[in-house]
Amino acid sequence: MFGKVWLVGGGPGDPGLITARAREVLGAADVVLYDSLVAPELLELCPRAELRSVGKRFGSESTPQAEIRDALLEHARKGRRVVRLKGGDPTLFGRACEEVSALAGAGIPFEIVPGVPSPLAAAAYAGIPLTHLELSSSLAIVTGKERSGTEWSSERIRKLGSAVDTVCILMGTHRLEEIAAALVEGGRAPGTPAAIVEWATTPRQRVVVAPLHELPARARAAGIGSPAVVFVGEVVGLRERHRWFDSRPLFGRRVLVPRPEHQAAETARAVRARGAAPVVFPVIELHDPPDPGPFREAMAALDRYAWVLFTSANGVDRSFAELDRLGRDARAFGRARIGAIGPRTAAALTARGLRADVVADEFVGEGLARSLLAADAAGPVLLPRARVAREALPDTLRGAGLQVDVVAAYETRPLGAERAAALAELLAGGRVDTCLFTSTSTVTATMDALGDRALGLLHPLQIACIGPVTERAAAERGLRVDVTARSYTAEGLLDALEERTRADAAARPAPPA
Ligand code: SAH
Repeated sequence: MFGKVWLVGGGPGDPGLITARAREVLGAADVVLYDSLVAPELLELCPRAELRSVGKRFGSESTPQAEIRDALLEHARKGRRVVRLKGGDPTLFGRACEEVSALAGAGIPFEIVPGVPSPLAAAAYAGIPLTHLELSSSLAIVTGKERSGTEWSSERIRKLGSAVDTVCILMGTHRLEEIAAALVEGGRAPGTPAAIVEWATTPRQRVVVAPLHELPARARAAGIGSPAVVFVGEVVGLRERHRWFDSRPLFGRRVLVPRPEHQAAETARAVRARGAAPVVFPVIELHDPPDPGPFREAMAALDRYAWVLFTSANGVDRSFAELDRLGRDARAFGRARIGAIGPRTAAALTARGLRADVVADEFVGEGLARSLLAADAAGPVLLPRARVAREALPDTLRGAGLQVDVVAAYETRPLGAERAAALAELLAGGRVDTCLFTSTSTVTATMDALGDRALGLLHPLQIACIGPVTERAAAERGLRVDVTARSYTAEGLLDALEERTRADAAARPAPPA
């Protein structure tokens, strides 16, 4: 039985710019052969797949095309679901045709999943409309590379000088001078607005705008390399008014997210959505507590409790893992009511089919205690949580006369020496601008991992804390906290960072004209 091959477009770089169909296909793939230009985050969408980089980059290739073709055929003949993942759209200057021909010739079923092409995405993220009611009614997308087996000639580009309004050139960085000259020879005014967009749609995006005849020198002076797309036409003049992506306050900022891997994804997405680059480095490892007995007993008798309270998504995950082990499911909660410390914990519950009866207004232990007491909660109360945690919640409830069983569902452990050294190296290398602390435990774990060097390594960074409790923990360890969120969520934290960045920019004296 033959398998099947999907030629899939991975989009231009922003991992959000992938189609729903591509996501589906990647999720079910057995093998993924990917180009180096695809966003690395997309590989996380293929949990089952064997991943193989075929290293093609900017049109030149490191794995010969014939070898890629043979690998596709071979995997498909073994009955596997094979994805050939390419940057942008798979058929646009992507050599997908050769692969499709081979598959068709061998009678292997295939599907083509289009992707967002880099020229369209680069235009959108640079704020350059490709067409415009008055300024442009035609568009040409061309390659700056020679045709296979022939010398490059300026002939085709010269014709575009007068044939179309907007010209968009891929793979042209290395011969910008020739391209600009050919367009001018072909009739385009030398002063026509032009732009080159490097690493479009990513936090590394850079845009150089100049009149056509000056663009090559200006791009070279700025050190623009590959991948980049060039735009020539009156529409480029609209960028100053239409730009949005690279003018946002956090654009390009490299943000350390020191959270456990499975919890970092959401924060990383939120960071990316603001045009910043998340640098995920888990500083905490979760383990079973040394004595899991009390937790297990409590989980086996959940319906004895009037309330079960969760103060972290970890607590929710661990509890459900235990129920799973017991061969039970959400029904084990019986008539027990459920409280959550904040929206993230509530979302972890919803993901398991449970709706929290109470979510704290203020996302700290005191806040949850207050919300519960306001709801006239009675005991007994179960609190499955980290082995080491703050006592505010159980203490307040006990103070109000409730019986509270606190059980350790997990414990967190500091990083091993090797990972700690890797974190120190990351910071010492200046590869991070901002650090997001989303809990006191990440503060403690980061400081402990870095040891004596912690203050020195973190000093150059902007330190942002999710709320006052985390801020206090950071201050107690000697850190200077630059930003604290008013709304204690990752989004609230990023809002606060944006606000701060805007205020700082407004306070800076204008650069000399
Ligand atoms: N199939 C791809 C194009 C492959 S050719 C697509 O649909 O986009 C590779 C060229 O695409 C690069 O040399 C560059 O010109 C362009 N390119 C791809 N990704 C880019 C990006 N993020 N920013 C700017 N140009 C990009």
